[in-house]
Amino acid sequence: MDLPPIPKRPREGQAPPNLDDYDRVRASFSWEQAREELDGLPGGGLNICHEAVVRHAKGARADQVALRWLGKKGEQEDLSYAELDRRTARFASALKDLGVPAGARVFGLCPRIPELYVAALGALRHRAVFSPLFSAFGPEPIAQRMSIGEATVLVTTARLYRKKVAPIRDRLPHLEHVFLIGDRREATSVEGTIDWRGTVDAASAEYPVPPTDPEDPALLHFTSGTTGTPKGALHVHQAVVTHHMTGKLALDLHPGDVFWCTADPGWVTGTSYGIIAPLTNGVTMIVDEADFDVTRWYALLEREKVQVWYTAPTAIRMLMKAGLEPLKGKDLSALRFMASVGEPLNPEAVVWGQEAFGMPFHDNWWQTETGGIMVANYASMDVRPGSMGKPLPGIEAALVEADDGGRVKVLAGSDGQGADAEGQLALKPGWPSMFRTYIHNEARYAKSFGEDASGQRWYLSGDLARRDGDGYFWFVGRMDDVIKSAGHLIGPFEVESALVEHPAVVEAAVIGVPDDVAGNLIKAFVTLHPGHEASEALEAELLGFARKKLGPAATPRMLDIVKGLPKTRSGKIMRRLLKARELGLPEGDTSTLMEDVGGAKKDDDEGEGEA
Ligand code: ATP
Ligand code: MG
Repeated sequence: MDLPPIPKRPREGQAPPNLDDYDRVRASFSWEQAREELDGLPGGGLNICHEAVVRHAKGARADQVALRWLGKKGEQEDLSYAELDRRTARFASALKDLGVPAGARVFGLCPRIPELYVAALGALRHRAVFSPLFSAFGPEPIAQRMSIGEATVLVTTARLYRKKVAPIRDRLPHLEHVFLIGDRREATSVEGTIDWRGTVDAASAEYPVPPTDPEDPALLHFTSGTTGTPKGALHVHQAVVTHHMTGKLALDLHPGDVFWCTADPGWVTGTSYGIIAPLTNGVTMIVDEADFDVTRWYALLEREKVQVWYTAPTAIRMLMKAGLEPLKGKDLSALRFMASVGEPLNPEAVVWGQEAFGMPFHDNWWQTETGGIMVANYASMDVRPGSMGKPLPGIEAALVEADDGGRVKVLAGSDGQGADAEGQLALKPGWPSMFRTYIHNEARYAKSFGEDASGQRWYLSGDLARRDGDGYFWFVGRMDDVIKSAGHLIGPFEVESALVEHPAVVEAAVIGVPDDVAGNLIKAFVTLHPGHEASEALEAELLGFARKKLGPAATPRMLDIVKGLPKTRSGKIMRRLLKARELGLPEGDTSTLMEDVGGAKKDDDEGEGEA
């Protein structure tokens, strides 16, 4: 059912892609050389905030807009590189004045407002460890993460504090300082907290970046919780080398570009590519405070003349649901490159990009643990719809079999052996943004690695993939989600993609339901495009449609038409929850759950910044 490849776009009159020839760039790439593209600190040091902000503020980009903030209510604020430099210095100074030591954990619980970005970069400047949380989390997930992370400092808004932090504050013995951001007009005074405006704005705008070891801890990110309890992955300052190079090679960021990453910093994408990579690459990044909205998004792309756009499958499917009508009359001629991450991107969605925008969405694959993009479709390569592309230069990816004792058998490597092999996607350790541990979970961390017969260590991703004869990687499914049915191993993605090709279907999720005879039967859950009604006839039609595409072995035997699918706040379908509900089992950790009912997010809190 492979759709034909989409040829790479010609780039007449424009700068050529940064990665102009995959094989050539890959053959000559080294992380040591990549690091040379950054400034570094005297004595071999490396600090993320220095590379993202300080070095530009001292140079030709000082007055360029680094961050354009678009408020929910139509407000706009531009921060130049020089201004971002001053503000991050002030926050770093405020931390220093309070005696917060290097390595202390600074948590951010904010909507997408400028202070969040200042806090993240300012904490890094001070060599504190920054940990972002989704502002829509309830008190319980906040308490859990802050206690696992031993938060010393919290930056939040007065409203979020009252609603979500005050009730749990006595459970956070490490928490010493809470900065409260008011409503942009007034100071806040809440007992036991520090007024951001009064303190940060008054702190010194001089804060030379202190000596920072490349291995100093920098970021603590919690995983999305798609497959279980979220894990806290710790990253170090030299991760910035990966952020920078992947921004350049995979997202094709050129200095001066206008770039929009739609992810919230509460999710790793929103930090690696919503803060760090764009700034190290000297682009102007757009931050939209509002949530997904078709009309708003297209208006933003047009008005801001966005050139590079990075978003997620769940959003793309919602855009597809709205059809081509909202795009009529829009001038999106500035747009040069579109990319997607977070979930498998159905071939249908890639092709729709071509139809709607004249270019495909470029899928790329990575994880919280990898810190940056590992496998990608590049501007200079034909896109094979449904494939996540090829490993980044500097990344050795393999497909392996691993046993419980961590013994690894390599089935296919990056070198071209083992075409069409299917196995667990594994990466050779050593890239700069690899996580250094799961905090307070050393055992789990150790289990993420295995060793092959030659003694080579591998990071085991927990995802299954296939590699074709030309070196393109294809996502099969998470190992937890793969279905064993009548002697076959079935990846949910292929089945879901077939269902999504039906004109009535927006989204699909499939699970295995235990069966005495077959082991498991495939059950599908689908949501419908407007104008289609649920009926038994449509269910039967969809099952027939899938059977024709997939053959009997991989065809769902049962299908439910539903209003929405359970998803994480980063927009990932939680198949484990569908399964637990289907089988009447406990739901497990639901701290990151956001019910998606018919495309409208159902959240307890919008996470507004206002007091
Ligand atoms: P948890 O580890 O807590 O279960 P999670 O794995 O969803 O949550 P993240 O680190 O945010 O947490 O997500 C990484 C995972 O997302 C990958 O392992 C993969 O399963 C999926 N993913 C990301 N990008 C892609 C992609 N382009 N194609 C397919 N799957 C993807
Ligand atoms: Mg994971």
